[in-house]
Amino acid sequence: MYVKNVIEKVKSNYPSQKEFHQAVEEVLISLSPVIDKNKKYQENAILERLVIPDREIHFRVTWVDDKGNVQVNRAYRIEFNSAIGPYKGGLRFHPSVHEGIIKFLGFEQVFKNSLTTLAMGGGKGGSDFNPKGKSDGEVMRFCQAFMNELYRHIGAHTDVPAGDIGVGGREIGYLFGQYRKLTNRFDGVLTGKGLSWGGSLVRPEATGYGCVYFAEEMLKERGESLEGKVCTVSGSGNVAIYTVEKLYHLGAKPVTVSDSKGMIYDEGGIDVALLKELKELKRASLEEYIKIKPQAKYTKISDYKEGSNAVWSIPCFAAFPSATENELNAIDAKTLLQNGCKCVSEGANMPSTLEATDLFLKAKICYGPGKAANAGGVAVSGLEMAQNASKHSWDFEVVDKHLHNIMENIFANSSQTAKEFGDPTNLVLGANIAGFRKVADAMIDQGIL
Ligand code: NDP
Repeated sequence: MYVKNVIEKVKSNYPSQKEFHQAVEEVLISLSPVIDKNKKYQENAILERLVIPDREIHFRVTWVDDKGNVQVNRAYRIEFNSAIGPYKGGLRFHPSVHEGIIKFLGFEQVFKNSLTTLAMGGGKGGSDFNPKGKSDGEVMRFCQAFMNELYRHIGAHTDVPAGDIGVGGREIGYLFGQYRKLTNRFDGVLTGKGLSWGGSLVRPEATGYGCVYFAEEMLKERGESLEGKVCTVSGSGNVAIYTVEKLYHLGAKPVTVSDSKGMIYDEGGIDVALLKELKELKRASLEEYIKIKPQAKYTKISDYKEGSNAVWSIPCFAAFPSATENELNAIDAKTLLQNGCKCVSEGANMPSTLEATDLFLKAKICYGPGKAANAGGVAVSGLEMAQNASKHSWDFEVVDKHLHNIMENIFANSSQTAKEFGDPTNLVLGANIAGFRKVADAMIDQGIL
């Protein structure tokens, strides 16, 4: 009853924030067993406190485009919870960004960061600015204007943003430069920095590699592996590219990638070098892929079957949704299961709808929810903060080994917790309860705030 009441209050207080409702519902329902067992959480109003961010900063970003026109965007930094460390979470620049999207991402981040075992609270930010089609000069002026407000709210011990959709190395560079200019400080205030100015090796690869390591762990427990298996990946950005790369390292064959216009099916295996050239260097559409590799098949989004994502219609052993939220619905989940899919490891945040998640859980396949499976990115961001604080930088192998260990531990912790609560294959329950307990107990230890 307590859990249901908190969910209903979130829905009635913020009627238009559908993605936030979805994230809250998914987490809170799965927390019911631990809430029922421990009255202290209700007595301390932990759930009511967790669903309201510590602080929400809404601001205007005004900048000038290449034609001399004044442009105005909406921007947010939502500092959700800092009970176990400074706020930490990415910035998203995409036209679909609004308060509800940033709140769902920030809420998820609280539990994800807790699972990494590093001292990081949860936050998220972004803007409805669309970097696509903008010149480097326009992106720089936007980032500088964004930081003109953000700088007063962040700090190496306060709030440490990073990248997300639409925010990669170029944007982090412009944001960091403006922070340094405004404050006259060289601090580890952002992660995802360039290697020569405080960045960490493996940060670009971390989310994708980590998501594949997580899949490997789930499969290992069942005596299976990715070797020789056909895999499907959605997206073609940072997470998707390094998911594809790591799948090859482990002997699997990734056959799909997608973007906001369509998808590529390359039966012989996605060409990673070409993918990097098109997406990291040229920022081009995936349609260009078939000009170089005519044997691959390109399907435009307008040709997808109504109500489904064509990526998930390709038969596979394991699927890696790595584009965006709600990109895999119940129809897609049924298709995947009918085609014999045995593993879904989520690189994106909340890519599966609640109905799709339920189908995966009922089928008892290996299902790694985003907040566990994609935690490798923020984990290496945490390692970047540690390197900045100690003024050292670590070798690629050292950081990759840490990442691998962290992903193994996240799986072990989530799986053990799922077993403790009598639902051994349910990593949604396991990850949510494991992430929650640490934050909730820290909140209780620190008093009523
Ligand atoms: P990028 O901006 O690098 O890439 C995003 C990819 O998804 C692009 O291929 C983009 O297509 C596609 N995409 C974005 N929005 C949509 C949409 N509405 N419909 C269809 N395709 C879309 O972002 P990331 O790879 O960094 O992020 C991908 C996901 O992973 C997000 O959910 C993010 O929150 C999550 N994530 C990222 C982490 C990181 O370290 N970067 C860490 C943890 C989670 P196009 O090229 O056409 O724009």
